[in-house]
Amino acid sequence: MRIGLDLGGTKIEGIALDDDGRELARRRIATPRHDYAATLEAMAALVGALEGDTGRKGTVGVGMPGALSPATGLVKNANSTWLIGQPLDRDLSRRLDRPVRFANDANCFALSEAVDGAGREARVVFGVIVGTGTGGGIAVERRVLTGPNAIAGEWGHNPLPWPAPAEWPGPPCYCGKTGCVETFLSGPGMARDHREATGEELAAPEIAARAGAGDAGAAGTLERYEQRMARALAVVLDILDPDVVVLGGGMSQVTRLYEAVPRLWQRWAFSDRVDTPLRPPVHGGSSGVRGAAWLWGPGEA
Ligand SMILES: [Zn+2]
Repeated sequence: MRIGLDLGGTKIEGIALDDDGRELARRRIATPRHDYAATLEAMAALVGALEGDTGRKGTVGVGMPGALSPATGLVKNANSTWLIGQPLDRDLSRRLDRPVRFANDANCFALSEAVDGAGREARVVFGVIVGTGTGGGIAVERRVLTGPNAIAGEWGHNPLPWPAPAEWPGPPCYCGKTGCVETFLSGPGMARDHREATGEELAAPEIAARAGAGDAGAAGTLERYEQRMARALAVVLDILDPDVVVLGGGMSQVTRLYEAVPRLWQRWAFSDRVDTPLRPPVHGGSSGVRGAAWLWGPGEA
C-alpha cells in the first residue's frame, strides 16, 4: 500500500492507494500553522490513522510546497514559512521509522497525471499549476525529474517571453524580480491585468465566466491571458518537448484554454508544426496527494 500526504498551508490531505491506484482511505486535517513540531506530529498521526483505517502498512510519500534542498536536505522555497530550514525528511523518516520520499507539489501533480491520468500514455509529461501561483513539474517515464537544484520545471519565475512594450518590465513579483510568468498567469495576475485594463475588480473565475457570456472587457483579458500562456509554454516546448502538457490549479477549469492555447503556441514554438496536446487533469484536486503516494513506484510498495 502507498500512502501519500499533501502538505498544504492550511490542510494536510492523506490518501492510501493500492497497486492499481484504487483509493483505500482518505483523511484530511488542519495544518498546525507556524508550529514545526506540531506539523511533524500531525503528519505522523495522519499516516497512523490511514494505516488504522486499512489495517495495512504503507510506503510514505509527501508532496509539499517548496522543496528539499539536495545540498542540505533542508526545506527551501516553501510558502509555509515555518518549514523553511527544517530537516523535514530526516525528522519524519525517524518518526515513522521508514524512509519517506518528498517532492514539490507541482512535481506530484505531474507524476499523478503521468501514472494514471491525462498523461498515462506519455513518456514525458509537463504538469503546470496555475492558480494562486504558477508552478510546474516534469515526470519522465513515471518518475519525477528533480535535478541538482530541485527546480526542474519551475517556469513561473522566468520572464514572460516576447513581451509587448506594455508588458515590459512587468509587475513586481514576490521573488524579487519583475515581469515573471507568474505575475501574468496566476489567478491574481489575471485579476490585476483586468483591473488595469477595465477598472473592474474581479477574480479570475468571474472574468472567465463573463468572457464566455460576451462581456467585451473580460473577453479582452482572457485573450491576453491565452496569448501569454501560449508564449510562456512555447519556451517549455522548445526546451523539453513534452509528449503532453497537463494543466492544474484553479485556471485549469477555464475550458477555452485547451483549444486556444495550442492554436496560439504554434506561432511561438520553434517548429513548423506543434502536435503537443494541452489537457485538463484527470484527478483534479486529488492529483497532488495521489502523486505523493506514487513517489513510490510500481513494485516499490
Ligand atoms: Zn517571480
